[in-house]
Amino acid sequence: MFRRFATRPLTRNLASPSNTRGVKVLAILYRGGEAAKQESRLLGTVENELGLRSWLESQGHEFIVSDSKEGPDSDLQKHITDAEIVITTPFHPGYITRDLISKAKNLKACVTAGVGSDHVDLNAAVEREIQVLEVTGSNVTSVAEHVVMSILLLVRNFVPAHEMIERGDWTVSDVARNAYDLEGKVVGTIGAGRIGYRVLERLLPFGTKEHLYYDYAPLPADAEKAVNARRVEDLKELVSQCDIVTVNCPLHEGTKGLINAEVLKHFKKGAWLVNTARGAICDKDAVAEALRTGHLRGYAGDVWNVQPAPRDHVWRTMKNPLGGGNGMVPHYSGTTLDAQARYAKGTREILENYFSGRPQKPADVIVGLGKYETKAYGQR
Ligand code: NAD
Repeated sequence: MFRRFATRPLTRNLASPSNTRGVKVLAILYRGGEAAKQESRLLGTVENELGLRSWLESQGHEFIVSDSKEGPDSDLQKHITDAEIVITTPFHPGYITRDLISKAKNLKACVTAGVGSDHVDLNAAVEREIQVLEVTGSNVTSVAEHVVMSILLLVRNFVPAHEMIERGDWTVSDVARNAYDLEGKVVGTIGAGRIGYRVLERLLPFGTKEHLYYDYAPLPADAEKAVNARRVEDLKELVSQCDIVTVNCPLHEGTKGLINAEVLKHFKKGAWLVNTARGAICDKDAVAEALRTGHLRGYAGDVWNVQPAPRDHVWRTMKNPLGGGNGMVPHYSGTTLDAQARYAKGTREILENYFSGRPQKPADVIVGLGKYETKAYGQR
């Protein structure tokens, strides 16, 4: 893997704890239920608390953990008023809005146990000098594998074929009429950072025809060559050349609704689209309509514009005209048990650095004190 991200200087603008003991830490995590009681490696759950409780309490800190995050009576709204650190995961994000930040008088750091900090109003965090930290890289392999799997299940029309078997039917032609090979296809990634690049690396052995990428940060020439990638500077031009498009950029002002009805018109008829980045990068209704008409042959991913997704969210049930093309799952590609071990460990390291006043790893700092430290959340 080519490392074009590791060159930033160590950040010295550290947030420092109000006290060495007695810091209030609030974590908003997903409820794991029976599964979390049976499987202690489900660390990202309310039940298993990222493995942090005994350590935090032994240091004299207060640790509040909840999944309650919506509305004025939620634990998020109640406790953010005096918490110094808020930890949340992208899988069950506590949305730290500008309004909440204005009420969070003691807040000094928002920590993402995982990758992707768009659930925090980053501009408001910059203004209030609240650090936003994440465990960069912790689940990028997990997501890249999921992207490759999603591409394959769409291209090979896997889901309807499996559903047919479960129903007790056996009509090969009904599924084979919309099944293809990945070999020889043109694949484009929107965002060629840690995940996008890993996706291209993993696709090479399939004998894909060409890899394209759209990213304002060009890859070094040798990195491009290593994954057979060519940069395309115009998004519509990129999508018009691809059989498969995969979205791997962060959600920010420049990417919200990036894949909308107008851009979808420029996709090849019958293209497949995979989005494991963030739901709001794609226009919900425009995608559903493109799939319904067959302009898109398939859409897959694990991210939704609101999480948890409402029961009637159109992406749960949308289909192409041949009754397939839907590879949607709940947000879990980056929360495999392997990934949870990594992001729980990384969260603890971030907290240790915070409490001891040591600098954070530069790549983990999204917002430092009063400024963006990453170039991945838009050109500014
Ligand atoms: P990264 O910072 O390594 O790479 C992001 C790339 O996107 C950068 O190269 C950046 O220049 C590029 N980019 C930013 N804005 C762009 C734009 N407008 N157009 C094109 N490219 C743009 O991040 P990463 O580790 O690869 O993660 C990418 C995103 O994937 C995260 O921000 C997160 O939203 C998502 N993610 C999802 C899961 C999951 O479980 N589904 C897990 C991890 C990350």
